[in-house]
Amino acid sequence: MKKIILFAVMLICLLALAACGSSDKATGGNNVKEVYKVGVDTTYPPFEFQEDGKYKGIDIDLIQAIAKDQGFKVKIEAMDFGGIIPSMQAGELDIGMGGMSITDERKETVDFSDPYFEAGLSLVVAKGNGKIASLKDLKGKMVAIKNGTTGAKFAEDHKDEYGYDTIQVSDSTSMFQEVSNGSADALIEDYPVISYAIATSNLDLQVVGDRLNGDNYGMSVMKGKQDELLKKLNDGLASLKESGKYDEILDKYLGE
Ligand code: GLN
Repeated sequence: MKKIILFAVMLICLLALAACGSSDKATGGNNVKEVYKVGVDTTYPPFEFQEDGKYKGIDIDLIQAIAKDQGFKVKIEAMDFGGIIPSMQAGELDIGMGGMSITDERKETVDFSDPYFEAGLSLVVAKGNGKIASLKDLKGKMVAIKNGTTGAKFAEDHKDEYGYDTIQVSDSTSMFQEVSNGSADALIEDYPVISYAIATSNLDLQVVGDRLNGDNYGMSVMKGKQDELLKKLNDGLASLKESGKYDEILDKYLGE
């Protein structure tokens, strides 16, 4: 009998230890920190870009500061924007960023954090192009779009209405080139990104007309499966806003 009791006590201890071990990992206790893989766009300044072999930008600084605040670690993985949500669905990423707009369509496959940046789309043409001032001037023209983006969706949705065609590429640099080299007449890009690109590099592009829409960037996680992580992202973001760190990060990249 004694032996059975001893065995039972040992078993309970073992189970308790095992439970403890796994919860430590999940809560970040005991210095065992969870490492979350964060998918970002290949290059999308001022949100993400590489400088001296290091990832920089608003998204990068924000997620690193949130991770520090909430006691987890991150590993940045840069990829074509169109690959971020599919990679998350395949379980290869925990968090999706990349200047990702919160949309109802995406909400069917991912859960979004609270919004962290206001954006929206602009129509862009070659510098000095006096013929295209709005979507109405796009009849018979070619519009460059970037795979998987809200800009691509907008362009496809309005194609028949305005009578243009689209050419699809996978990153913003290629999209800008399509217009600079004359393969396309216009492109659609998020206005904070195109304004930053025009202001900081000598791109032969200009924004025309009114903004096409307005939206907000959010961090995304796998739908319905990452409530704990989502809470950390929201708590971290709120804490950065409260402490002034959020403004500091925005100022660092958008200051002048
Ligand atoms: N904000 C846009 C979107 O969510 C574009 C993002 C991007 O090109 N990285 O689709």
